[in-house]
Amino acid sequence: MTKTVFSAMRPTGKLHLGHLVGALTNWLDLQEKYSCLFSIVDWHALMGEYEQSKTIHENVIDMAIDWMACGIDPSKSILFVQSHVPEHLELQMIFSCITPLGWLERNPTYKEQLREIKTRDLQTYGFLGYPVLQAADILLYKANAVPIGEDQLPHLELSREISRRFNHIFKNEYFPDCEAILTKTPRLLGIDGRKMSKSYQNAIHLSDSKEDVTKKVKNMFTDPKRIRLSDPGHPDECNVCEYYKVFAPEKTEEVQEWCTKAQKGCTDCKQILTDELMRHLEPIQEKREALSKNKDRVKDILYGGQKRAKQIAQETMGQVKEIVFG
Ligand code: SF4
Repeated sequence: MTKTVFSAMRPTGKLHLGHLVGALTNWLDLQEKYSCLFSIVDWHALMGEYEQSKTIHENVIDMAIDWMACGIDPSKSILFVQSHVPEHLELQMIFSCITPLGWLERNPTYKEQLREIKTRDLQTYGFLGYPVLQAADILLYKANAVPIGEDQLPHLELSREISRRFNHIFKNEYFPDCEAILTKTPRLLGIDGRKMSKSYQNAIHLSDSKEDVTKKVKNMFTDPKRIRLSDPGHPDECNVCEYYKVFAPEKTEEVQEWCTKAQKGCTDCKQILTDELMRHLEPIQEKREALSKNKDRVKDILYGGQKRAKQIAQETMGQVKEIVFG
């Protein structure tokens, strides 16, 4: 039987190159091999961004457009919005009743985010319970696997602990042990060399125009030791070269040569990178534009995904309630 794979993204803003190489490229591969459910998790967005709640709806549609523009195919995968399937919250409720508070309070991501994020008040009941909803998202569809990076393994482990606890308390091996599909994703930093993130305003977005991309690439941090054109550079210490490795790997050797031998300046090097990035972005942007002109079609696709997801979710919840309440 084909394995079920679940993956999701929070609709908190425009998608950027990090999403493209970190998730979407991988999803394209997965949708050819597995039964995939890709969910736009708006409840998760609300947990962290409740003060900007009005933007979530717009971001949902934008995210669906971006996904499809990148090649996520609704005829191959189920593409849906989390809040359109209320069973996510029902299962979360049941899991909330059995999840020990200590598991959530010890969660390293929770502690890190409370420490790092100072612009929003995340000391809420909902945010603490984030991993419980995550477990419900995955297990509602009895997903066999989720694609994640190594850093996300503790999250998955928490979901597995919740499902094992359910099976143990209710003496039923109902939920499968969900596995990780470990994805090797290139680490793509923002233009300032920090983690690419909306909060740092250092991302190149999938929808950025050529002018925006040119400006952003021009501002990219380079090898700090290369001051004059005649100084040999150190491409391994330069973020621009990292981008070449991801978006134009066939050119990397050439870049290393012109850099270390000071044959080309950083301005030219960046101009060529801009062209390479646009080679990737332009076809996505063309599809994006066509989809943006027909948002009703996008909504219909999400509605179709909702119906398919709901069918599975209702079946699971029927069985879960039977196990829990008898
Ligand atoms: Fe970086 Fe290119 Fe400049 Fe070398 S030439 S330091 S790789 S931008």
